[in-house]
Order: sequence, then structure tokens, then C-alpha cells
Amino acid sequence: MASDFEVQLRAASLRVTRPRLAVLAALRDHPHIDTDAVIALVRTDLPAVSHQAIYDVLRALTDAGLARRIQPAGATARYEMRVRDNHHHVVCRSCGAIADVDCTLGDAPCLTASDDHGFVIDEAEVVYWGTCPECLPRSEGIR
Ligand SMILES: [Zn+2]
Ligand SMILES: [Zn+2]
Repeated sequence: MASDFEVQLRAASLRVTRPRLAVLAALRDHPHIDTDAVIALVRTDLPAVSHQAIYDVLRALTDAGLARRIQPAGATARYEMRVRDNHHHVVCRSCGAIADVDCTLGDAPCLTASDDHGFVIDEAEVVYWGTCPECLPRSEGIR
């Protein structure tokens, strides 16, 4: 029986390979994971897979719309499987922690720009910067 990941890959016209399945599992289990962490996880199962092969898988999955790449300014790129719902992210300036901020498909007020300059807008990506609860006590101690 085909797994969900196999069905998703075939629906996106991508060949089913073990590295692709392993990367999808890493993204499912660890939302907002960076490339180094994906490599480490995939290699626990498939030690022979090269860095380049994993970069290529991440690019193929992102291009096919199965994964989303987020790159907050000054931070390393992260990947997640939650796609096409136009959600946003809140990022901790101190430790880089990322969490999802919902924006529901079909009723996304952020898609109504105050001035669209004549563009047809189909996606909005907002990054909220701040300090996460883990880092908050520490930063207050510094003051
Ligand atoms: Zn933090
Ligand atoms: Zn997210």
C-alpha cells in the first residue's frame, strides 16, 4: 500500500525515492526545520545521502508545492509542510524560534493591501519579530 507521502509525490509528478520520503518525514515531524537539521535526520536512516542530494530534494519539494521555504531576514532558511494556507510566522530575535500565526485561506485580511499598486495579490507573508517566552526572562534580566 502506498504511504501518504508516496501519494503526494506522485500527485506532484515526482518520482518516489527514499531520500524524498525521508525529507518529507523530517518536515512532518519537525516544522520549521533548517537544512542542517534535515540532513542530520535523513542521515540517521540513510547515511550515504549527500548534502547536495538533500538540497536538491528540498528544492524539488518546494518547487512542487509540497514544502514551503521560509527565510526570515538574517536567519537560515527553514522548511515546513504546511503549505497553501497563507499562514504567517513569528520569529524570536534572540534564539530564532519560529511559530505559526494563522491566516485562514479564503478570508485573509492581509491579502487586502492598503494600496495594491495595480498588482493582483495572491499571497501575503508577514514576519512578526519579537522575543519568545523562553528568551523573555533572560532578556529582562539583562536590563
Ligand atoms: Zn527565543
Ligand atoms: Zn509555518
